[in-house]
Amino acid sequence: MRGPRPTQVRDWLLRATMHGHLPDDIAMSDLDTLRARALQAARQAYAPYSRLRVGAALRSAAGGVYTGCNVENASYTLGNCAERAAIAAAVQAEGAGFRLAAIAVTAFDAAGDVLPISPCGGCRQALVEFGEDATVSFRQPDGQWLEVTAGALLPHRFSFPER
Ligand SMILES: [Zn+2]
Repeated sequence: MRGPRPTQVRDWLLRATMHGHLPDDIAMSDLDTLRARALQAARQAYAPYSRLRVGAALRSAAGGVYTGCNVENASYTLGNCAERAAIAAAVQAEGAGFRLAAIAVTAFDAAGDVLPISPCGGCRQALVEFGEDATVSFRQPDGQWLEVTAGALLPHRFSFPER
């Protein structure tokens, strides 16, 4: 098990302060904050087909928090994942310099029961793009939260070939 070290949390706070703004939730017992925000985001999901509502909340290296939810479509393959929606929001806000520090992902079904879920393969590729060492937090089948690095979730990943 691993999660953000206290020094990381302190660094996020320091960076946020240096950038002239404090994260909206200053307490930042960080993963708890991200898990709560992910659950809020999941409530906004558009999931009429699977009825699986997924939410993601990430912390950028600069200290910002961005969220996303899944957005399904009648043409199933057009659906978007919560994780990539959160990344898009972060890039929109912070620009190309955005780096991922941590992300929490959660989901619940039509009955409101929280379900275990982990980022899909496509999202794993998207996560390592912005933070190979970022902490990724999600629920295991036994209901416990697991923290791993984005890089550990996707060994042998695609990278743009260099000459
Ligand atoms: Zn995904």
